[in-house]
Amino acid sequence: MRDCIFCKIIDKQIPAETLFEDDHVIAVLDINPINYGHTLIIPKVHCRDFLALPEESYGSVLHAAKIIANALVIHYKLEGYNLFSNNGSIAGQSVFHFHLHVTPRYRDDNIRFVLNLKHYGDGEVKVFGDAIRKTIQSSLISYKEI
Ligand SMILES: [Zn+2]
Repeated sequence: MRDCIFCKIIDKQIPAETLFEDDHVIAVLDINPINYGHTLIIPKVHCRDFLALPEESYGSVLHAAKIIANALVIHYKLEGYNLFSNNGSIAGQSVFHFHLHVTPRYRDDNIRFVLNLKHYGDGEVKVFGDAIRKTIQSSLISYKEI
């Protein structure tokens, strides 16, 4: 895609620090890391978000994420790391080409994901479950057509 910064990285029009690459995916250092070594796993096919990611790319994305996470754990002797993806601007997505973040974590890194946890009332969890299961059943029909 012409104006996509990640497509330009994939096409080598923009330099990036590439850690891993195969036919389907590229892994590059995030230039604005939340911790050093923060890596972006980017499928080579342009797709806006997770729902647009072609099914044949799932495995390659997770394979690359595991290679990177393993290397970060070994190299930085990590006790933990995060895998995350922002999908949609309201969720913090800023580049609209799907990508998965792999981020080293440290005990004293002062990074917090601030969560405002909700609580289901009596019987509500089943109501939510029933509604979502019903949507899964109807959406699987259209999903197979994507
Ligand atoms: Zn792109």
